Amino acid sequence: MAVVVGIPQALSFYSYYPLWKTYLENLGVQVVLSTSTNREILEWGIRNTVTDACIPIKIMHGHVMDLKDRVDYLFLPRLVSVDGRATFCPKFLGLPEMVRFAGEELPEIIDSPLEATRFSDGIFAFLSDVARRLGIRSLLKQTAAARRARRVQREYEKLLFSGVHPLRAQELLDAGVIGVIPDGGRRRHGGAAVGNGSGEPGPLRVALLGYPYMLYDPFLSSNLYQRLKDMGTEPITPEQITPREMQQASKILPQNFFWHYSNRVSWSCLHILNNPNMVEGVIHVTAFACGPDAMVDKFMELQAKRAQVPYLTITIDEHTGVGGIQTRLEAFVDMLWDRRDNWQEEVKR
Ligand code: SF4
Repeated sequence: MAVVVGIPQALSFYSYYPLWKTYLENLGVQVVLSTSTNREILEWGIRNTVTDACIPIKIMHGHVMDLKDRVDYLFLPRLVSVDGRATFCPKFLGLPEMVRFAGEELPEIIDSPLEATRFSDGIFAFLSDVARRLGIRSLLKQTAAARRARRVQREYEKLLFSGVHPLRAQELLDAGVIGVIPDGGRRRHGGAAVGNGSGEPGPLRVALLGYPYMLYDPFLSSNLYQRLKDMGTEPITPEQITPREMQQASKILPQNFFWHYSNRVSWSCLHILNNPNMVEGVIHVTAFACGPDAMVDKFMELQAKRAQVPYLTITIDEHTGVGGIQTRLEAFVDMLWDRRDNWQEEVKR
């Protein structure tokens, strides 16, 4: 019987799941996902984490509890750096220990480090360590699996770049859709005027900024991404900004943040705000008790003020209710529509 490895649907799952899944399956391992986040997972997480942890960390602990009795290994890689400069937030660095000492009896944890240097992205060393911990030593097998995994990951990133939601992109890859931008995905835009270019008022373009595990987990975010779409807006997320655009934006700053995801979010914000009319509003989704976001949020608020673009912060914790989020989103989106109407009136005069 194949060895079973459990992957929690939390934190870096939204960025790297296709890479991990493809690699493990090509090594001959069976991959099991935790259940999608729900109330029970959140409750487990709250019970098994220190109280001052942010909600994504609590939810990660809940996913571990969901998996622990049905897998041989838990896949909790220690993400240190993917660019050789910024590191992941300290909670990512210490995640395997936090989970290991949470008090429950757990299966063996695969906590291989992913640590890029200035000369290497560190992926092969990381994947090779994963295989070694599973007792798979064939270099041939590792190389073939790594090559395939990296190809699938590139396809995944292309789908995200075209505006496909990560969960939908994963479904498409599972169904073998490769190299196609499906209906519902769209080519991204850059600096286009408000409207659709035909004189018709287009959907409102709103930058939806935040870490992928905050934006895309439907339960944690109260389905904020879909709510915005249902209100007639077109959310633009950091996953739709190219590495080149982010790099250019990073050059504007005298100093970057220390943390990988914080940089991605702040660079995306800079890129979007520095392209006139690319968006009509910015929404930042953040977790209560997130250390890095104490700086990132203020930084982005000031940038939005400078660009005269309305800015809304939505802070999420375990007590956040759907009603509160819906009311705040509606008020913000209504204000953006009014603003556009006023602007169009002024242009006509
Ligand atoms: S960056 Fe913030 S939200 Fe993410 S794990 Fe760290 S503290 Fe939590």
